[in-house]
Amino acid sequence: MKETHEFDYVIVGAGAAGCILANRLSANGRYSVLLLEAGGEARNFWIPIPAGFSKLMTNRAFNWGFHTEPEANTLDRTIAVPRGKGLGGSTLINGMIYVRGTRQDYDGWVNQGAAGWAYDQVVPYFDKIENYNQASYANETQAISRQIKEREGSAFEYAARGNTGPMHINEVGERFPLSTAFLQAAQEHGLPRNSDYNIADQEGVGYYQVLQKNGRRWSVADGYLTPARRRRNLHIRTHAHVLRVNLQGKRCVGLTYRDRSGETQDVTSRIETILAAGAIQSPHLLELSGIGRPDCLDKVGIQVNHALQGVGENYIDHFCTRMNWRIKNTQTLNELSRGPNLVAAVAKYFLQRRGILSLGTGLVYGFIKSRFDISLADVQLFFVHASYANAADRKLDREPGMTIGVSQLRPKSKGTIHVKNADPLCPPAIKPNFLDEQEDKDCLIGGMQAVRRIVQQQALQKFIDHEINPGAQVQRYDEWLDFARRNGQTIYHPVGTCRMGQDEAAVVDHKLRVRGLTGLRIVDASIMPTIVSGNTQAAVMMIAEKGADLILSDAPK
Ligand SMILES: Cc1cc2nc3c(=O)[nH]c(=O)nc-3n(C[C@H](O)[C@H](O)[C@H](O)COP(=O)(O)OP(=O)(O)OC[C@H]3O[C@@H](n4cnc5c(N)ncnc54)[C@H](O)[C@@H]3O)c2cc1C
Repeated sequence: MKETHEFDYVIVGAGAAGCILANRLSANGRYSVLLLEAGGEARNFWIPIPAGFSKLMTNRAFNWGFHTEPEANTLDRTIAVPRGKGLGGSTLINGMIYVRGTRQDYDGWVNQGAAGWAYDQVVPYFDKIENYNQASYANETQAISRQIKEREGSAFEYAARGNTGPMHINEVGERFPLSTAFLQAAQEHGLPRNSDYNIADQEGVGYYQVLQKNGRRWSVADGYLTPARRRRNLHIRTHAHVLRVNLQGKRCVGLTYRDRSGETQDVTSRIETILAAGAIQSPHLLELSGIGRPDCLDKVGIQVNHALQGVGENYIDHFCTRMNWRIKNTQTLNELSRGPNLVAAVAKYFLQRRGILSLGTGLVYGFIKSRFDISLADVQLFFVHASYANAADRKLDREPGMTIGVSQLRPKSKGTIHVKNADPLCPPAIKPNFLDEQEDKDCLIGGMQAVRRIVQQQALQKFIDHEINPGAQVQRYDEWLDFARRNGQTIYHPVGTCRMGQDEAAVVDHKLRVRGLTGLRIVDASIMPTIVSGNTQAAVMMIAEKGADLILSDAPK
């Protein structure tokens, strides 16, 4: 059935940003808001269970399942680029790790033309998002806390953080002999035990903070959409795949989407259309609408409606290599997640919401320096007492193992994402250009070498059988680089493809308005001028909270 509708605000994509926008723009009841999402409701057994992460990596109902183009820097491999689909977007399938990034990240944005986005100006938005109640969490788990103190000598010192916001954040509560030994080894290596990497200097090691409530995934739909769904001015349409935005001259007047029955529907936005489709699909949608680089559009026969050189450029992502070891003298997830151990783990999870099923991708973090002569940590570590036969599809080894993911925090290499053809249902060409800059190669290799030194410390020695990957034979720079090129993957943080700034190549201005057009904003991961130091969900949520304020401050009174 053909439907034409008018709304004040039309939001494309119900992910980390879109759910927050839908909540905030509909909150005062004055504006009608339509939220369009290509996926469906978040109904799947594995979504709320943190360990269900691995099951969702290949589920096409909740994962768009993009891939990169083959590129020489990564030896012509195609690398999987998962992206979440459904109400909650990538927060339905992601690793739940919560990292704000550093003061330098956001102050750096200002230097690139993003006025108003300095660290001190964005911190109130992080506080507004967070329900970080580590003190009460520690009370609930007092016995464990005491044990940790005794074993690791760490004090529970938690500085003020947002503790009344919609997103529940806890420090991982599970402890294992191998993770304790890793923390001790890192300290023997000279790294500090950092009690909160989200308030000051990131450098150090400790347990990750994760977006969970009572052992369950807490998606942005849980935090922001569910409480807003009863509002009569908020309209949500699922299985609505937006095909293009529509311009009249230089004004965006709405969009066209394909509904679940395959019919196209037109929607008019009276005030604004807001793209929140993420760093892969927001630039793709602009190009499909004739907004972008004329050379890219001409090549595929799309008429240029508005030339913008920066669309689909400045693709930045975190590239991660996974080092792993065969382990002895203790159990790892490889065995704990099989046979009778798995039965016990399932029972523990459903009775207490604890145990290995409450673990996502992150257990222990490290923020370390790849060289001694720099002031800020430039490498992030992801320690887990498990090893994968295949990291891309997350199949665990049968023998005991340990993995440390190594990722450069602020890569300089930049890639692109552009339309392959004019068919809106054809995925775009993703070319991340990983490991292009010399600084990135040096940093990643320095990080991996530092990790090898940490693992050689006394505290871990009784558990290490041997290094599997890259293997002790890898010693020279070119051998490390070959390992990275051959094995590195994305850790799923593409950003920057509709960059905010003031220069000619910027796509949106500091108020997130598409440059040269009216009635169109972009509010999602794509607007970051540079990538933040760590996992990107927290920064995207902050962008959406601030974006909603900017939109409402410009709303007709
Ligand atoms: C597997 C995985 C693991 C990750 N792990 C972590 C982690 O542990 N910690 C962390 O901080 N970050 C993590 N991230 C990154 C984080 O989830 C993203 O940075 C964040 O969700 C991006 O938010 P967004 O709003 O820009 O896009 P998304 O959350 O991806 O939302 C975009 C939404 O738009 C919809 N959409 C797209 N195109 C259209 C269209 N044409 N029409 C209608 N709807 C459309 C999509 O279906 C989706 O729902 C991970 C991401 C993935 C994929």
